[in-house]
Amino acid sequence: MIIKTIVIALGGNALIRHSQKGTLEEQLENIDDTMEQIVKLIEEGYEIVLTHGNGPQVGAILIQQEEAKDKVPAMPLDVCGAMSQGFIGYIIQKALDNKLKGKKSVTTVVTQVLVDKNDPAFQNPTKPVGPFYSTPEPLKGKRYVHIPNKGYRRVVPSPKPMDIVERQSIIDLVKKGDIVIACGGGGIPVIKEEGILKGVEAVIDKDLAGEVLAQAVGADLFVILTDVENVCLNYGTPDEIKLNNLTLEQAKQYMEEGHFPPGSMGPKVQAAINFLEHGGQAVIITSLDKLTQAIKRNAGTYITR
Ligand code: ADP
Ligand code: MG
Repeated sequence: MIIKTIVIALGGNALIRHSQKGTLEEQLENIDDTMEQIVKLIEEGYEIVLTHGNGPQVGAILIQQEEAKDKVPAMPLDVCGAMSQGFIGYIIQKALDNKLKGKKSVTTVVTQVLVDKNDPAFQNPTKPVGPFYSTPEPLKGKRYVHIPNKGYRRVVPSPKPMDIVERQSIIDLVKKGDIVIACGGGGIPVIKEEGILKGVEAVIDKDLAGEVLAQAVGADLFVILTDVENVCLNYGTPDEIKLNNLTLEQAKQYMEEGHFPPGSMGPKVQAAINFLEHGGQAVIITSLDKLTQAIKRNAGTYITR
């Protein structure tokens, strides 16, 4: 297998570690560590396309909107998503620019991702976003859930990503040799009505969107970096088994058996299945610090057809 183009999806821990508050200094330091490894791959000649989550960052931006709404107009979730793409793209670009010293251009694409306005997810919002409230009053007119001992929190739909509006721009940048950062936070969800794009208040899963990106750029390898080194069976139980190699068929079977919960490992394995079923060669799921080792097949979970 010849690997040239790699799409890498960065999990939440690439920017904010579990015990951290998420100050800018913390995020800059974390991203710098991660980019150290990415630069090694770039120097080895791989074409790298990056995507990333935005949960904590977009949550913070939503709180800023809420707290300041009497002073300046609050912006809706799609705009907050765009802000987070700019913010995170900027700090990744800067970290890479400082290491590459002009050897490669790094470009972030503010990315809209098309979703189906009839996606059943719109009838059943599941994704909690933004601050917790002690009363449901501030959430009037919005869908919310009550989480015992924590409070009321808004929930939004998490529709499936169908296509990338900026697909051709991203492909052109990759062809030109740029390091591209795209589909941040799963992309800004938009629907198309009579040919017109409209932003919607939803959150697309970043692993599923990363897979659509991997297909779009014709990636040979799709890498999902998170905070566990391996995908496991019976995760978190005494019978836990770490998986090193997995076939597409096994991935589907274990998925059906319920080893991979929604909202965490589920979408990662589903994204892997989607990539392999659409002609992708291989997927790696591993922890941030094992990236370079995993590419050499010395760490992580390797999923192939
Ligand atoms: P990310 O920000 O990288 O998307 P997530 O928290 O969404 O991180 O997903 C990674 C988490 O999935 C791990 O920290 C682990 O607790 C959890 N997990 C659930 N099931 C499994 C499994 N079968 N194997 C490995 N990890 C699992
Ligand atoms: Mg996740």
